[in-house]
Amino acid sequence: MSKSYQYPVFVSPCFEQRIWGGRRLESEFGFGIPEGNIGECWAVSGYPERESVAENGPCEGRTLSAFWAAEPDFFGAAQLPDEVRESGYPFITKIIDARENLSIQVHPDDAYAAVHENGAKGKTECWYILDCPDDAYLILGHNARTKEEFVQMIEEGQWDALLRRVPVKRGDFVQLEPGTIHAITAGVMLLETQQSSDVTYRVYDYGRLENDKPRQLHIQQSIDVSTVPAPEMDGLVLHTADAAANRTQELVSCKFYRVEKLPVDGNFVMEEKAPFWIASIVEGEGSVTCSGQTYALKKGQSFLLPCDYGKAEFSGKMTVILAAPQGK
Ligand code: ZN
Repeated sequence: MSKSYQYPVFVSPCFEQRIWGGRRLESEFGFGIPEGNIGECWAVSGYPERESVAENGPCEGRTLSAFWAAEPDFFGAAQLPDEVRESGYPFITKIIDARENLSIQVHPDDAYAAVHENGAKGKTECWYILDCPDDAYLILGHNARTKEEFVQMIEEGQWDALLRRVPVKRGDFVQLEPGTIHAITAGVMLLETQQSSDVTYRVYDYGRLENDKPRQLHIQQSIDVSTVPAPEMDGLVLHTADAAANRTQELVSCKFYRVEKLPVDGNFVMEEKAPFWIASIVEGEGSVTCSGQTYALKKGQSFLLPCDYGKAEFSGKMTVILAAPQGK
């Protein structure tokens, strides 16, 4: 018989040192972070050695991968495609603080990663821009028309001509398919939802040194997996800063996930179905009530809503980013 859960489970984050990282995860999100340049908060992760731990519920104190294995009904396993159910907790939710530019990079899809990265998953990812300078841009795609031109521009280091800069502002959202050349730039903070994968091919790193050495590049893999020509940019950046309060707005629905934005101002009762939901509070504070129990919420917190949550009443003034796997 399947078990039913009707309350949220909060999870703890992990933090990653990066040469391009900063301190805003502490100053603006209130996280207790380690010393140094902290670039990434892995807010909800079942990735080996960088896992979230459940803070309440049936697997309190255990890792997310252990929780996933022990309580399939919490995660709506019966509604998940077999492949998802069997490959472990499917996503990583990150908050990224880029004090400096990140390297120009590209990710493979599942098929390429399976063959070339020991059966790893590829990486489809998406970004919700939390904060950025007024004149911010992202690197999204490139200007080469053919693979030959793409290779030549890389070999000749024609980065300004090759890389496509796209202006962004707070509340913008971008879906990044595998094969898309991309980079986050200095001053940008964003929430990322991605497949549970750590396969990144670095094509250019501005000649930077880490511990007196350049970081490794992966030119051939980048050439192999990059989409040429790059997809048109029209409509790729979704502007959501003016999204209406107390309703969900779909940001993307792809093969792996759907992501929604929920600005709360007062009250909103959510009943939308999914195998399970990941909720991240990216702005403001408030509470969520499930089955008569109320949980306080503040910026930086993430929690999981189980398959059978029933209703979740959000109250307060805050912005919630919701993500869920696709059902079968
Ligand atoms: Zn990426």
